Amino acid sequence: MSVFHDEIEIEDFEYDEDDEVYYFPCPCGDRFQISKEELLAGEEIATCPSCSLIVKVIYDKEVFEKQQ
Ligand SMILES: [Zn+2]
Repeated sequence: MSVFHDEIEIEDFEYDEDDEVYYFPCPCGDRFQISKEELLAGEEIATCPSCSLIVKVIYDKEVFEKQQ
């Protein structure tokens, strides 16, 4: 199933430098999350650990890699 709840730009995510994970608030009260490692691997789907919603992360992979 690939129905996205929303599409969110990476700039709108909150980055946790300790965990190296990007977070974005989920309607259920938890947070969508995707790690820097996943993004660098080409992953673009952030998942919520508490519900079944998923969001597509909008980012430019080449620009993102250069920022590392
Ligand atoms: Zn959720």
